[in-house]
Amino acid sequence: MTIGVLALQGDFDLHRKALARIGHESVEVRLPRQLEQVGGLIMPGGESTTLLKLLDEWDFVPALEKFHAAGKPIFGTCAGLILLAREVESPTQPSLGLIDITAERNAYGRQKESFETEGEADLGQGPQPIKMVFIRAPRIRRMGPAVTPLVMHQGECVMARQGTVLVAAFHPELTDDQTVHRYFASMVRQAAG
Ligand code: GLN
Repeated sequence: MTIGVLALQGDFDLHRKALARIGHESVEVRLPRQLEQVGGLIMPGGESTTLLKLLDEWDFVPALEKFHAAGKPIFGTCAGLILLAREVESPTQPSLGLIDITAERNAYGRQKESFETEGEADLGQGPQPIKMVFIRAPRIRRMGPAVTPLVMHQGECVMARQGTVLVAAFHPELTDDQTVHRYFASMVRQAAG
């Protein structure tokens, strides 16, 4: 099952490379109708305000809602997390609302705008360390009861899942750690049956 990578803006190419490293096929998605050819979608990091404008301009929102309603997995990293959240703060902006979290944009302050660190993942096979890169990252300030935390960093959830929607505040495509792309690929295989 091919994974689409939303290629409107941001670091989509590194996600395709990360998928290639685990032997998973991917394609760029630049038009809503291309969603029909993929079994899952990655929404990469970038600038969420720009991405929102482009999604609107290309009439992506109804197609993404349909994709989600069809049970196809979506994975948002960083700006992608912001776009998928139910609520966005600092400042408030519209979002798709496909996962019941509140995201606070640029929440790591100035001197920590970008940093590399390690967190703890629990993806069903017991806790394991995971490498993470944060770039002007959002914080998950609230999680609804249907949301499961999957990766923690200093007591805060930085990756979470609700059904077929996965979000990460960090950039798994910027490290050689394959954990997260493998996890999303397994969600896509499972959804495809
Ligand atoms: N700060 C960006 C935003 O608010 C996200 C940064 C990123 O995706 N690396 O949209």
